[in-house]
Amino acid sequence: MSQRPILRRCVACKKVLDRKCLLKVTKDFQNGVVLSGGMGRSAYLCPTESCFEEALKRKRLQKALRCDIHSSIFNMLQKQLNNCIDSDTEA
Ligand SMILES: [Zn+2]
Repeated sequence: MSQRPILRRCVACKKVLDRKCLLKVTKDFQNGVVLSGGMGRSAYLCPTESCFEEALKRKRLQKALRCDIHSSIFNMLQKQLNNCIDSDTEA
């Protein structure tokens, strides 16, 4: 039996992708909103600038998780995003 990828939907563009390719934000029942790990409702986002912008502007993650998300979470997301893209533009 081969392992099938776990598919999740991006909250911004609604594309369904392998979970491994997506950034994950979880509303942990104890620790609040976290970027990796955690137990509870999760939302996923493509590691692209456009999806990040969309999610930020339209509060897609907040709506998906039904809670407020601190700006530090978005800062961390953006850093992860830059790590994913990195080699593209240095300047
Ligand atoms: Zn997307």
